[in-house]
Amino acid sequence: NIRVRFCPSPTGNPHVGLVRTALFNWAFARHNQGTMVFRIEDTDAARDSEESYHQLLDSLRWLGLDWDEGPEVGGPHAPYRQSQRMDLYKDVADKLRAGGYAYECFCTAVELEARRDAARLAGKPSGYDGTCRNLSAERIRRYKDEGREAIVRFKMPDEPITFTDLVRGELTFTPDNVPDYGIVRANGAPLYTLVNPVDDALMEITHVLRGEDLLSSTPRQIALYKALIELGIAKEIPSFGHLPYVMGEGNKKLSKRDPQASLNIYRERGFLPEGLLNYLSLLGWSFSADQDIFSIEEMVSKFDVADVNANPARFDLKKAEAINADHIRRLDVKAFAEACTPWLKAPHANWAPEDFDQAAWEAIAPHAQTRLTVLSDITANVDFLFRAEPVEDEASWTKAMKEGSDALLTTARAKLEAADWSDPESLKNAVLAAGEEHGLKLGKAQAPVRVAVTGRTVGLPLFESLEILGKEKTLARIDAALA
Ligand code: GLU
Repeated sequence: NIRVRFCPSPTGNPHVGLVRTALFNWAFARHNQGTMVFRIEDTDAARDSEESYHQLLDSLRWLGLDWDEGPEVGGPHAPYRQSQRMDLYKDVADKLRAGGYAYECFCTAVELEARRDAARLAGKPSGYDGTCRNLSAERIRRYKDEGREAIVRFKMPDEPITFTDLVRGELTFTPDNVPDYGIVRANGAPLYTLVNPVDDALMEITHVLRGEDLLSSTPRQIALYKALIELGIAKEIPSFGHLPYVMGEGNKKLSKRDPQASLNIYRERGFLPEGLLNYLSLLGWSFSADQDIFSIEEMVSKFDVADVNANPARFDLKKAEAINADHIRRLDVKAFAEACTPWLKAPHANWAPEDFDQAAWEAIAPHAQTRLTVLSDITANVDFLFRAEPVEDEASWTKAMKEGSDALLTTARAKLEAADWSDPESLKNAVLAAGEEHGLKLGKAQAPVRVAVTGRTVGLPLFESLEILGKEKTLARIDAALA
């Protein structure tokens, strides 16, 4: 049985890189009828927050990335928050020390730095040099009497570590590159280096899929795993796969602080979960050479880590938006109308909530659906229906109202008044005919009509919009523009 885990630390807002990691784990689990474990790595009280914890859960739920074991769901390895598992880590750290796999290290920061500098100058490896590996009992006592504090350090084996990365193939790390490392702080707090592999072992994780930034911790974790196996704590070393970096602007790694990186902005702008997931799945993976748009079920049916590309992926907001637009168009119109509800009914500046008209919305929805990139664009596109008067926008007005616009509008008004208001084609012919009288093509002739009625130079198909707004209001707005 395949068991994967998604194990973020609750620090700050969730970002798209994190979601990509969650998605690949989830798709891998679902494709293989495996188990998705959701674990919260909240051992750093100074940086972790409850707010961020709740945001993580809420974000995964919004995205539809469900988990089989974890917070709120429970499971055989509960609790799934590391802050509630401290006794377990202490126990394992004690066993590692007792078994000779780890040792107390009394080196002070100043000493470490001095030796590191000296090693660098001598052109030698500058990682921890093993000074405290074999201290005599006598020396340890002396250090303690001096009041020195000790961290616990894991003893790395002296031979190279090789493993086959699911994405990158065989990788080898030499001992020089992976020195002994701290697993418990002087104050007794266990570090990520310990708690992460210990929980992977206890939770029987079979595949670790995570970002490339964690590649350097993998040889350490493999060595620790071997110790855990010898101690009877772990069963098997999991397989590791490191997902490629996501690059942002200027070909720099997309950082948490990048505004484009925050998951919340996609949600606020009205990305559909399936649109965003579709896009994120393409960061390091592809569905097929000629198909970029697919459903989450289709992704699951094809997903395999072996197909993940090791090269850095580039985050492209325009492409994300285009894919989202496609997913909006794929919705059935009822679902689309409902998906827009939060933007239509939320209090906002474009119209008063009591002026919202459900019937008008349902009539215009099919025309809006084909035009939107993100759902939040809906308000500007339909506000002409729900406002007593169109929005006032100087720039649009100057752009559309030229010399002769009044004359055109006067003719158009007369022809619209005589048109058949149950047929947008008839409204179009009215404006077309008015344009002809003034030597204007349809595009030029409809611009002042659009601005007079909607307040904007661009928007939904005009004649359908007029029909839905109705004859009376349309003519009144043209009159107002002429006044
Ligand atoms: N809590 C770690 C992080 O947020 C998890 C890393 C891992 O997947 O091993 O980076």
